[in-house]
Amino acid sequence: MAIKFEKVTYEYPAEDNAVVAVKNVDLEIEDGSFVCICGENGSGKSTLAKLMNGLLQPTSGVVTVDGKTTATEEEEELFAIRQKVGMVFQNPDNQMIASIIEDEIAFGPENLGVPREEIGERIEYALSAVGMTEYRHNTPYKLSGGQKQRIAIAAVLAMRPEVLVLDESTAMLDPKGRAEVLKVAHELNDQGITIVLITHFMEEATQADRVVVMSEGRVVMDGTPEEIFRDRASIEKYDLELPITDAIAADLLQAGLPLEDKIYSEKTLAEAICRLK
Ligand code: ADP
Ligand code: MG
Repeated sequence: MAIKFEKVTYEYPAEDNAVVAVKNVDLEIEDGSFVCICGENGSGKSTLAKLMNGLLQPTSGVVTVDGKTTATEEEEELFAIRQKVGMVFQNPDNQMIASIIEDEIAFGPENLGVPREEIGERIEYALSAVGMTEYRHNTPYKLSGGQKQRIAIAAVLAMRPEVLVLDESTAMLDPKGRAEVLKVAHELNDQGITIVLITHFMEEATQADRVVVMSEGRVVMDGTPEEIFRDRASIEKYDLELPITDAIAADLLQAGLPLEDKIYSEKTLAEAICRLK
């Protein structure tokens, strides 16, 4: 198990009205899985993400990463946890520090004390993993949003994480940029990296192994995309949208195409249409 939450509650300290952002959550993120977390604004998704790598520590309950609690006093242990569970956030511009891309990528490994020669290898690996090798010596300022997010992912990959948490990392991107980032996330998952993707885009969720829905700080749904999107009453209750592929498949079925009555992703829907004679 990569990450395990046991009865985790997190309360933001405030003078008069403390906000309980995460309430009594039990959750296990399996090694190698691709998990989407959905839910309305303010439902606690980002707080949950920050609890995953010790950026926040539970008010009560326990979060463990590879069996080690995030509520450790040992700086080194916390460092190891942050290295294992990498985070990419929403706004790519807030995540760039360096003026040259390779320096941006080198920053993490340098902080980890990785030897010079190995840093070079890591830069190559990370840039190649996100398809940005030829930008190594460029400045990040002129990149598109999708490219910037891929650099932000590369900067995390250079620390050789086991889990990558993407907190609405596609939210500010155009459809092309979103597709680029999603493709990278799936490729990394194929290479064995566990992906936790927080998203508002339900078609992204159709491509996950598992979808977790949060509402008012609690996990209220947890299942395969099929199980989640079949449950129309809950989808409505938690103010989620249906994936666009679902509406398209329904229209095609109605128009007489012999599609199955199931939840399609963009890929599986395209494949199903191609199989039709
Ligand atoms: P989401 O990512 O699903 O939009 P968040 O985890 O950001 O949800 O927020 C959950 C709740 O915690 C919300 O009510 C939000 O207002 C509150 N919250 C988030 N960050 C802070 C903070 N730094 N201080 C106080 N309350 C916060
Ligand atoms: Mg959020």
